[in-house]
Amino acid sequence: MHTDDLYAVYGASGYGREVMPLARQQLAQAGVPAERLVFVDDAPEAPLVNGQRVMTYAQLLAEPAARRHVVLAIANGTVRESLAKRCARDGVQTWTVSASNVVRMDEVQLGEGAVLSPFVTLTSNIRIGRHFHANLYSYVAHDCVVGDFVTFAPGVQCNGNVVIEDHAYIGTGAVLKQGRPGQPLVIGRGAVVGMGAVVTKSVPAGVTVVGNPARAMA
Ligand code: UDP
Repeated sequence: MHTDDLYAVYGASGYGREVMPLARQQLAQAGVPAERLVFVDDAPEAPLVNGQRVMTYAQLLAEPAARRHVVLAIANGTVRESLAKRCARDGVQTWTVSASNVVRMDEVQLGEGAVLSPFVTLTSNIRIGRHFHANLYSYVAHDCVVGDFVTFAPGVQCNGNVVIEDHAYIGTGAVLKQGRPGQPLVIGRGAVVGMGAVVTKSVPAGVTVVGNPARAMA
């Protein structure tokens, strides 16, 4: 990290306001001055949010900086993907923000641009793709494989040997039953798991499941 660099939390709404303090603490520990951290939002509602400067994306690009680093703090994975493309096109770096109390065990591969909220645990032998969000108190257990732009709401319990494909959204407090080695439980691409669902079987791509045991919504 370099003090001439500029750091941004993209999204100044609900989730962005939860990510900003984590970003602030991470930079403080790295010795980066607080004024090098800003919010970016395409529809800014105020010049300051919780004391932090808010700028548009065009202003971020215009601001003098050696390099620009952005963490995408918007829960919608499809929006994250389009913003990630825009940032890549403009030479803006992806940035991972992690709470200081996150637990990471052995052999965790974490793709770029993740947000790991307070009390998240990633156990051992896990592979996770790009721009993953793990919200408060969620965990990923052993031998899971998580795709790109996957979102965990708070309190998701993802047990061992589960595969989660790109763009899946797992709602608050959902429980994913463990799979077996070589026979994972699979949450398909773009599937949605409703809050509190107890998922005991694989979920096909694009399907929304709710309840206990989780079933496809009619
Ligand atoms: N936003 C943006 N660019 C986009 C889509 C969204 O800057 O292409 C901003 C939007 O203006 C809002 C925030 O991202 O301030 C998304 O907030 P929302 O409350 O919808 O979601 P959350 O914060 O819960 O992810």
